[in-house]
Amino acid sequence: MHIENTLRLDFKDVLIRPKRSTLTSRSEVDITREFKFLHSPVRYHGIPIVAANMDTTGTLEMARALAAYGLSTALHKHYDADTYVDFFRNLKEKHTAFYSLGIGEHDWQKFRDVMTRSENAVEYVCIDVANGYTEAFVAFVKKVREAYPNVVIMAGNVVTGDMTEELLLAGADIVKVGIGPGSVCTTRKMTGVGYPQLSAVIECADAAHGLGGRICADGGCTVPGDIAKAFGGGADWVMLGGMLAGHDEAGGETVEENGKVFKRFYGMSSKNAMDKYAGGVAAYRAAEGKAVLIPARGPVDATVQGILGGVRSACTYVGARRLKELTMRTTFVRVGMQTNDVFG
Ligand code: 5GP
Repeated sequence: MHIENTLRLDFKDVLIRPKRSTLTSRSEVDITREFKFLHSPVRYHGIPIVAANMDTTGTLEMARALAAYGLSTALHKHYDADTYVDFFRNLKEKHTAFYSLGIGEHDWQKFRDVMTRSENAVEYVCIDVANGYTEAFVAFVKKVREAYPNVVIMAGNVVTGDMTEELLLAGADIVKVGIGPGSVCTTRKMTGVGYPQLSAVIECADAAHGLGGRICADGGCTVPGDIAKAFGGGADWVMLGGMLAGHDEAGGETVEENGKVFKRFYGMSSKNAMDKYAGGVAAYRAAEGKAVLIPARGPVDATVQGILGGVRSACTYVGARRLKELTMRTTFVRVGMQTNDVFG
């Protein structure tokens, strides 16, 4: 047994210190980014915020709505192959949608089928497992990279620099970072495993950037300020579940209780999801996600505008003319209190 005494931080533990700046308006800030990738020859230009590949947030409707703002959606993996073929064939801006897959043989065969039939119309792929530390996962990333040298591969999840490097060397372009911070995740409760998300982002970004790789901060953002902190900490991309859940474009059943309308939102390792897709929770495992009811939030547009406005404003506060400059202009201060909640 070993104890590490260095303090690791979550979004709630810090604020971004404002800096003197020559910017006069947040409208001067450019929050798009251009990326070259470590392996894929594809060039990216967009706003690097991506809806999570949960069946509640990674929907076709969400992809269409977010694409209008230059954002991306990692589609969930439960549509049938025909639906993906049709969708990706007609997708004009390829960076606005990721095809997601796990590492099972079924996932692999379905992906190959979609690629063949769509004439390689998928440019962005998200290889997603709860625990990115297994040899089988690394081997799968290698296999996809060898078979499809041109696709942009996002792969995760991990929370440490060593594994970030290993995945990049195996063929990933973007490593997805986060174990346990998600809004409907119960991994930390069920297993005691996890890592404070802001520190995970800072450490993995450092490792990735040293190799020319990218990272995506996945999970734990609850307000636009958290997204700004993730970018400030070095994230190239930020993935959102809960912040996009409950909108019209999100999946999940609509429930009416006492005249109020709610949408169900659940983790992909929750009992809900396993009942739906795996015929229940297998005897050898426990659910690591929960289900919640969120008051219906209407169209996602207002939320997206709030997010983009918040990130743009954060850039203005530290004098970052472009999102790219946010990290180098960020100084985090550790705090004991985030907000004044006297009025709730
Ligand atoms: P959020 O933005 O809601 O805080 O976090 C979204 C992320 O939570 C997802 O992208 C995914 O990485 C993670 N997640 C989704 N479902 C589950 C689950 O059932 N269990 C765990 N441990 N994590 C989940």
